[in-house]
Amino acid sequence: MKNKMYEIKNLKLDKNSLMLNETIFHNANGYIGIRSSFEEGYEGIDSIRGSYINGFYDIAEMKQAEKLYGLVEDKQTMLNVVDTQGIEFFIDDEKFTMFDGEILESSRTLNMEEGYALRRVVWRSKKGKEIEIIIKRMASFVRLPLFIIDYSVKALNFSSLISFKSTHIGEVTNYCDPNDPRVARDSFKHLIPVEGFIEDGCSYLVTKTSRSNLEVCTSVKNVISKEGIFENKIENHNAVFSAKTQIQQGESVKLVKYAVFCDSIRFKDIVLSSKKIMEEALSVNLGVLYHEQREYLKDYWSKASIEIEGDEELSLAVNYNLYQLIQSVSKDEFGNIPAKGLSGEGYEGHYFWDTEMYIQPFFMLTYPEISKKLIEYRYHILDYARENARILGHEKGALYPWRTIMGKECSGYFPSGTAQYHISGDIAHSIVSYYLVTKDLDLMEKKGAEILFETARLWISAGNYYKGKFHINDVTGPDEYTCIVNNNYYTNVCAKNNLIWAKKIYEILKEKDLIKRVADKIGLTYDEIEEFQRASENMYIPYDEELKINPQDDSFLKKAVLDIENTPKENFPLLLNYHPLYLYRHQVCKQPDTVLSHFVFEDEEDTLTIRNSFLYYEKITTHDSSLSTCIFSIVASKLRLYNKAFNYFGDSAKLDLFDTHKNTKDGIHTANIGGNYMAIVYGFCGLRIKESGIYFNPFIPEKWDMYRFKIQFEGSLIQVEVDKEKTIFTLLSGDEKRINVYDKEYVLKDKVIVA
Ligand code: BGC
Repeated sequence: MKNKMYEIKNLKLDKNSLMLNETIFHNANGYIGIRSSFEEGYEGIDSIRGSYINGFYDIAEMKQAEKLYGLVEDKQTMLNVVDTQGIEFFIDDEKFTMFDGEILESSRTLNMEEGYALRRVVWRSKKGKEIEIIIKRMASFVRLPLFIIDYSVKALNFSSLISFKSTHIGEVTNYCDPNDPRVARDSFKHLIPVEGFIEDGCSYLVTKTSRSNLEVCTSVKNVISKEGIFENKIENHNAVFSAKTQIQQGESVKLVKYAVFCDSIRFKDIVLSSKKIMEEALSVNLGVLYHEQREYLKDYWSKASIEIEGDEELSLAVNYNLYQLIQSVSKDEFGNIPAKGLSGEGYEGHYFWDTEMYIQPFFMLTYPEISKKLIEYRYHILDYARENARILGHEKGALYPWRTIMGKECSGYFPSGTAQYHISGDIAHSIVSYYLVTKDLDLMEKKGAEILFETARLWISAGNYYKGKFHINDVTGPDEYTCIVNNNYYTNVCAKNNLIWAKKIYEILKEKDLIKRVADKIGLTYDEIEEFQRASENMYIPYDEELKINPQDDSFLKKAVLDIENTPKENFPLLLNYHPLYLYRHQVCKQPDTVLSHFVFEDEEDTLTIRNSFLYYEKITTHDSSLSTCIFSIVASKLRLYNKAFNYFGDSAKLDLFDTHKNTKDGIHTANIGGNYMAIVYGFCGLRIKESGIYFNPFIPEKWDMYRFKIQFEGSLIQVEVDKEKTIFTLLSGDEKRINVYDKEYVLKDKVIVA
C-alpha cells in the first residue's frame, strides 16, 4: 500500500505550489481530466482551473508571420470545457478559505489503490469555530463521464447554521502564457452557450465550440445528507445550488456533487446520455461507485504494478507515474495520450510521437487491449496523414502530423514540428512491436498493415538515391536543437525498419492469403514492395571512422561544440534563452537522438559504436526535454554503466513528483513516465522482444533488494522477479514460452530461476 499512496502535509499556499498540486492531485480516467483546484478558490491568486475531455477540441488560428505554401494556419486546441469544481462553504456568514482564519491541519493525499484524491483541513474561523473538512474527488474509471466531489464537514466545537454554494460554470476559458512556447499563446473564448436548464434538481449546460462543431453537455447534481433549505438556479450559463442547514457540535454533514460530461464525439444525444449516466450514478449507493473504482484499479495494479524493495521513495515515484498512465490514456480510438495527459494545458492537449516511442511499450506489455486502441486511433486519422503527405508534396504515402488531436497537423514552427518525419516511422515501429508482443494478425490485416505500407511509401517519396545509397534529406530528428538536416541517423534507421517490416508483413499476410483486401484498397503492387526492399538495403547510415560513432546527421560533427558546462544554470532550458539558429549551429542536444536509436534499433550497430556514441552525446546533451534521461538510463544499462543508469533513472522517476523541470504546473510529462517504466523493464531488466523471441538481461541497482513486474507476451502472463542473487520467471497464466536470459534459452513452463 505504501507505494500506492502519496501524501503531503501542511499545504503551501503560494501560487507555484497551488498550481503544481492542481496537476499532481488531478483526477482523470482517460476520458475526462479535472485539475485539483481548491473548490472554494484561491482568493484572487491566478491558477489553471481546468476540466478537459480527451480529444475534445476547437480550432484556433495559428499565426504565421509569413504566408508560405502549406504552413499550418489553424490548429486544434484542447478545451477547458466547464467548471464543476466550485463549492463554497460557510459557517454562518464566515466563508471557509485557506487564506483566512487559521489552518490547524492540512493535507492532500492521492490514493492510487482506491482511485481518489483527498484534501483534509482542520480550520478555525476568525470567530473561533473549528471545523474538519474532508473532500474526496474521483473520476470514475468504470463510468468514464462521471466525476464526483464528496465533501464532508464536521463541526468540532460549535453548533450553528452552515451553508454550501455549489457552482456549475459554463463560461470558462483556457489558460495561456504568451512567453512560453510550451503552452498556448492566447486565450480565446471557444465555447458558446447553447442551452441551460434544471430538471429534477440537476443542472444541464450544453455548449458548443465556435469552429470545430462539437458539443458538450455537462450535468451536475448536488445531494446533501441533511434536511434544509435548498435552491437551484441558473443564469447566464452558470448554475448555482445553495443549501442551508443546521449542524450540531460533533455532527458531520456531507454534500456529494455528481458531474457528468458527455461530448458529441462519443455520444449521439449528449443530453439524453448525460441524463441516463447521471440517473444510473444516482441510483446506486456512493459506496458502490467507490467499490467499482477499487476493483478496476485492483485489476490494473495486478498487471501494471512494479514492486521495488529497498527504495521506498523511488518505488512510490514509479507507481505514481504508472497511475498517471492509466489516468491519461484514452480508452477509445477517438482520443490518445496528450503529452501532458489530462492534467493540464501544456502543449494544448496534443498527441505526439510520445505515445508510440515512450508509452506504447508499457501498454503493450501490460494492457494490450489499450495498446490496440492507440493503434486504432492512428488508423482513424490515416486519411489526414495522407492529406498531410500531399501538402508536403508526396504523391503517395502518409505523413503523420507531428502534433495533433483530430488528425490535422498543429505544429506552427515546422522546423521542429512537421519536419520530424520520423513520427511516421515511430508509428510503424510501434505497430510492429505490438505485433511481436501479441501476434495479433487480425489487427495487422485490418489496420496495421495499411499504415505500414503507407508510411513505407512516404520514405520512398521523401528520399532519393545518391551514389547508390538512399538518402533522406531535410528532416528533423528527435533532437529539436538540430533542425532540417540531411540523413538524420535516427530517421534513416527508423525508415529502414519501416521499409523492412512493410515487406515482411506483406509476405506474412500473403502467405496466409490475407493481403488482397488491403493491397486492392490502396493499390499496392509488388513492384513497390521490391522498391521498399531496395531502399532499405541501400539506406545511407552515417558513421564517422575517426570517432567511431554514428554522427547525428551529415553536418552535425562539423559544428562547434556548445560549452554546456560554462553555460549559466539559469539559461536552461536553452530553448527559452537562445535563438533557434544559435542552437542549430552548435553541437548540443535537447534529448537523445542517435542514443535513442541505439536502444530502439540496437541491432543496427555493434556495442563499441553504441558505447562511443553514448559517451560522445552524453557530453553535449542538456536533457532540456523530459524525454531524455529515461533513454540515457536504458542505454547506460545496456552498456553496463550501472551507476549512470541508476542516476538517470532517478532523475526521470522524480520529474513530476518533485517538479524538477519546473513546469509540472502545466501538466505531467507522460512520455517521461512511459520512459521511466522502460528504464526498469528494458533498462535494468534488459527486456527485448524481437522476431527471434524474448530476451532478458537483468541486473539490480545496488540500493535495491528486489524488483518485480509482470508482462504479457503472446497471451501468456509472466512475472519477473529480480533480487541480488537471481531472477525468477514465473508463468502465471497461458502457454509455456521459450525465454532467453543472458543469452541462454530456457523453457518457461512454471518457473525458471536464473542465478
Ligand atoms: C520534445 C518532443 C516531445 C514534445 C511533447 C518536446 O519538448 O522535444 O520530443 O514530443 O516535447 O512531449
